[in-house]
Amino acid sequence: MLHFSKPILTETLTLNYKCVRDLMTLAHIRISLMPSANSSCPASSIPTLSDNNMPRACLAMFLMITSFIPTINHFNIVTTVALPDDDIFTLDIVSKIHTDHDSTAKASSDFGHIVEAIPNGVFHPTSPADIAALIRLSISQSKPFTVAPRGQGHSARGQTLASGGIVIDMRSMGRGDNVCRVNMSTDELWVDVGGEQLWIDILHATLKHGLAPRIWTDYLRITVGGTLSNGGIGGQAFRHGPQISNVHELDVVTGMGEMITCSPDKHSDLFFAALGGLGQFGVITRARIALEPASKRVLWVRIAYSDVESFTSDQELLISKRSSGSGFDYIEGQVQLNRTLTEGRRSSSFFSASELDRLAELALRTGSTAIYYIEGAMYYNDDTASSVNQRLERLLEELSFAPGFTFVRDVSYVEFLDRVGREEQKLRSAGVWDVPHPWLNLFVPRSRILDFDASVVKGILRDAKPVGLILMYPMNKDMWDDRMTAATPDDGEDDVFYAVGLLRSAVAAGELERLERENAAVLEFCDREGIGCKQYLPHHASPDGWRRHFGEKWSRVAALKRKYDPWAILSPGQGIFFPAGAAVAGGSASV
Ligand SMILES: Cc1cc2nc3c(=O)[nH]c(=O)nc-3n(C[C@H](O)[C@H](O)[C@H](O)COP(=O)(O)OP(=O)(O)OC[C@H]3O[C@@H](n4cnc5c(N)ncnc54)[C@H](O)[C@@H]3O)c2cc1C
Repeated sequence: MLHFSKPILTETLTLNYKCVRDLMTLAHIRISLMPSANSSCPASSIPTLSDNNMPRACLAMFLMITSFIPTINHFNIVTTVALPDDDIFTLDIVSKIHTDHDSTAKASSDFGHIVEAIPNGVFHPTSPADIAALIRLSISQSKPFTVAPRGQGHSARGQTLASGGIVIDMRSMGRGDNVCRVNMSTDELWVDVGGEQLWIDILHATLKHGLAPRIWTDYLRITVGGTLSNGGIGGQAFRHGPQISNVHELDVVTGMGEMITCSPDKHSDLFFAALGGLGQFGVITRARIALEPASKRVLWVRIAYSDVESFTSDQELLISKRSSGSGFDYIEGQVQLNRTLTEGRRSSSFFSASELDRLAELALRTGSTAIYYIEGAMYYNDDTASSVNQRLERLLEELSFAPGFTFVRDVSYVEFLDRVGREEQKLRSAGVWDVPHPWLNLFVPRSRILDFDASVVKGILRDAKPVGLILMYPMNKDMWDDRMTAATPDDGEDDVFYAVGLLRSAVAAGELERLERENAAVLEFCDREGIGCKQYLPHHASPDGWRRHFGEKWSRVAALKRKYDPWAILSPGQGIFFPAGAAVAGGSASV
């Protein structure tokens, strides 16, 4: 049943010929203002929200004629949309919503392949103003529809889905070689990037100027908006903090449809809310990211341990060197269960088959349930090439890994940073990329990491089957500004916590259920033993779970939600807040 608050179609149909001719002239103005799909980028910077864009009247006129025909079609499908009285802009917005089965099916699932939710349509914006108009269209309805920005959909538990709402396909803002939405200041060492941009494209764009962001996630085919909505952690976080600690400024389109430029000094509450904000307060359309001079090459190192105590104390020693020039530039760690050594793949992106055999022997000889690796990286350039090996040797002398179990690769900076991209290609070829990923990521206080290891690694997961990866590495809490929404463990004065990623794939029938049971057992253990973990990339099934997740931040988070998204339309797949009247398992958390 169509429902219009105003007979706008009738009005549009009565346009006479002269009017259409005038509008065509205006349309030409618009066309000449827009770069064509194949044109190279204009030299100008990515516009910030405070910039003056095309006069609205001109745009509105153009939109009227270009959107009219496709709009009729969409109105037949997006049946519940009522057009606001005063905004002809809406016509163009509706024409950018794709409602065909193919579009909605693709936006119904994510990397996790665990949750499915079908949206009513997928929106293809070409500017932040489009996103603002979509949101204003939603809140002009008597029952606003939900809106979920989708970066790459690399979430694992439906965080980017919008059942019965509209998914924003951020890709349509523009990506790839013809990147107009990446622009940098080489003097001030920052880069302005669209929220839709992939980190891999930012890497290539900034390297052209010998610069690069300071902190990277392990995988780079994810977006700025997606990682800044979570945290963006990786092996450089001990030194520079997560990606959200390396942002100077954001453009955000709020749940009220306002376009706001914010920073630590300007609309600071929105700035900090959006960082780690799980998409709850607005759509990030631009971020100003800190840069540093990029290195050319990397010594990529793994050292193996058969006991967890030496592994963790060496990791903590290494991160304590963060302000000296003598340590690693990147530090992570992995846990390889015995069975994954004896039954897993016979080579990895790092280890050869014979190296894996040696590691399996080490596990057998020491009777250890698992082998632990510290993964480190030392960056270097032509001028430091002659000293980097000595620097590495001196550092390794301070550590207590299993003698003889040092593995070093000398690779380019890009090869190192894009290592998971190569792994992706292998997994895709093997048909094990698009499978369910019941990933569980936890931040564990340093004081409980050995308890966690004893009960989870050597207990619950002891006999786990070999597909996937377990990460375990420390970082410093003082690099996380507490005003950000992202949650970290509260462990009194202790500054260090561990990121633990149980990144496992369900490749055979029945495995998803088994892995989910193991995840539930891990969470239950953490609760029962008062480990004080926080989930990273969190998922909680009840409002109470979310209240506990945010802890002391909860009342601030709820107040900011009321301020910036009072209809609770944004990123509904996170399941934190629900529009008034929505049914919620375990109680109500409407704003
Ligand atoms: C192989 C792999 C490796 C990974 N490695 C790491 C890692 O090392 N470190 C790490 O921190 N994470 C890592 N991740 C997790 C990654 O950070 C998340 O998947 C994150 O959600 C980014 O993915 P995305 O860009 O596809 O965002 P999506 O999954 O599309 O979105 C994530 C959430 O953010 C919201 N959102 C998306 N764009 C915006 C925007 N512009 N403004 C506001 N909200 C938005 C969405 O609605 C959703 O709620 C990895 C993921 C994969 C698949």
